[in-house]
Amino acid sequence: MPEMSSLADANVRSHTYFVARANARCWHCGLTTRLLALAMPQGHETLEGDGWSDADCAGPVSDAWQRAAVNAMLFYVERLPGGVQDRLKRISPLFHPAHSAATLNSYWANHCEHCGSMLDDHALHCEPEGAFTPSSEAAAANIQLQQIREPFEAAAAGYAIEPEFFGSMRKS
Ligand SMILES: [Zn+2]
Repeated sequence: MPEMSSLADANVRSHTYFVARANARCWHCGLTTRLLALAMPQGHETLEGDGWSDADCAGPVSDAWQRAAVNAMLFYVERLPGGVQDRLKRISPLFHPAHSAATLNSYWANHCEHCGSMLDDHALHCEPEGAFTPSSEAAAANIQLQQIREPFEAAAAGYAIEPEFFGSMRKS
């Protein structure tokens, strides 16, 4: 893969990427809000960093770039290059870096469009029936995947390979 404008600590990169969109009820104010997430297509590459954060979400074990023959969802995304940041800001200003009391650092998090509360990635990506962990084809069909044909890289602490029902999400 040609060198891309690199983040010094990137641990995932790809020629293209998906922006996933879903709706969920905010657990602070009870109203339905739009949510955004990042997903990697088959053929993306990962670099083992200093460990993935969640036992539910297995990561690769190598210190070289490895091509992954699977789709993956990213979360606890700590850093993104400027071009990706600009695109995400245009798609949703509600997805931006925020400090998390739970992880003691900052990551790109969703915020409720009504009350502004941060909606943490653990609930959206690691709990059963989270907004991005659908438990059925029907639930997955409420998630929209938009493929962005631009290079991507990120430093991310959360990585879920072959998300269940990924194939049932709506591609656009
Ligand atoms: Zn809210």
